[in-house]
Amino acid sequence: MRNVVIIGSGCAGNTAAIYAARANLKPLVIAGHEPGGQLSLTTVVENFPGFPEGINGPDLVENMKKQAQHFGAEYLHASVIEAELSKRPIRLLVDGDWIETRTLIIASGASARWLGLPNEQKLIGHGVSSCATCDGFFYRDKKIMVVGGGDSAMEEANFLTRFGSEVSLVHRREAFRASKIMIERAKANPKIKFVLNTVVEDVYDVSQGVVTGVKLRNIVTGEAWDYQVDGFFVAIGHIPNTAPFIGQIDLDPDGYIVSKGGARTSCTAVFHAGDVQDRTYRQAITASGAGCMAAIEAERFLEAEGH
Ligand SMILES: Cc1cc2nc3c(=O)[nH]c(=O)nc-3n(C[C@H](O)[C@H](O)[C@H](O)COP(=O)(O)OP(=O)(O)OC[C@H]3O[C@@H](n4cnc5c(N)ncnc54)[C@H](O)[C@@H]3O)c2cc1C
Repeated sequence: MRNVVIIGSGCAGNTAAIYAARANLKPLVIAGHEPGGQLSLTTVVENFPGFPEGINGPDLVENMKKQAQHFGAEYLHASVIEAELSKRPIRLLVDGDWIETRTLIIASGASARWLGLPNEQKLIGHGVSSCATCDGFFYRDKKIMVVGGGDSAMEEANFLTRFGSEVSLVHRREAFRASKIMIERAKANPKIKFVLNTVVEDVYDVSQGVVTGVKLRNIVTGEAWDYQVDGFFVAIGHIPNTAPFIGQIDLDPDGYIVSKGGARTSCTAVFHAGDVQDRTYRQAITASGAGCMAAIEAERFLEAEGH
C-alpha cells in the first residue's frame, strides 16, 4: 500500500514528487508514455525562474526528477491503463498489476493537438511550437504563422504580433469557430494577415534543423505554394490525458478535471496538478506550483487520517 502515487512525470508530477518525498511519504511516480512531459519535447526554456541564461526543457525536467529521487521518490516507467477512484484504497492498473494507494495525484497533463504533417514533429522546438507565451519571444522581427480557427488561434495570433514582423493566420475554412469579439480583435490588428480556405501540407526544412517555410494549399482552387516563415504555431487545441478516469471523476465537457477548490477533485483522496486541470495558463511554472499544492494537500489529508 502506497501513501502517494503520482500519475505523470512532467513539471507538475515531478514537483509533487519533490514535496511528497521531502514529507517522507515515499511517493511512486508513474512516468507514462512521455517521461518528463511536454518540456521533454522542447529546446530552451527562458521563463522558468532561476535560470538567467535559460535551460533546456529536457534538462529542467530531468533535474526535477533527480531532485525528487534524491529525497526518496521512486519512478516507474509505465502508464496507468485503468483506475478505480471511488473506493479506498484507490487502485490503479499498471503493466498488468494493480497498485493500491491511500492518496493519488493526477498530473497527466494535456497534450497539444498537432496537424500530423510529415515534418512537424521533427521541428518541434526548432520553429514549430504549440505555445505562443512560451516561444513568441524567439521570433522578434521574424515571420510567424499561426494555424487554427478558434479562440486560442486568435489569442495566439494577437499575442505574437508583439514580436513578429508579420503574423499569418491560416484556417482551412472561410468562417471561424472563435468568438465574435476575438475575431474582431484579430481583424482590427494590422499585423495579422488572414489566409483562409487553406491547409498546410508540410513544414520545412528538416535538413537545416530549423523552420524556413511551409507548403500551403487552397482547398477551393487547389492552388499550392510555398511560403517563407520562421515560426510555425499550431493552435488547434489540447487533449487532456484523462481517459482512464472518465465516468469516475468530474471532468468538464472537454475532458479537463474539474477542481473542487485547491487541488481537490470530486473524489476523496484524489488531487489534481498541472495542465490536466488548467486550461488557462499551461506553463511549466504554474504546473510546478500546482504540483506543490497537490502534494501539500495529500500530506495534510494523510496526516488527518493518522498516517
Ligand atoms: C513544445 C512545447 C514547448 C513549451 N515551452 C514552454 C516554455 O518555454 N515555458 C513554459 O513555461 N511552458 C512551456 N510549455 C508548456 C509546458 O510544457 C506545460 O505547461 C507543462 O509541461 C505542463 O506540465 P504537466 O506536468 O501538467 O503536464 P505534462 O508536461 O504534459 O506531463 C504529463 C505527464 O503525464 C504522463 N501521463 C499521461 N497519461 C498518463 C497515464 N495514463 N499514465 C501515466 N502517466 C501518464 C505523461 O507521460 C507526462 O509525463 C511548452 C509546451 C510544449 C508542448
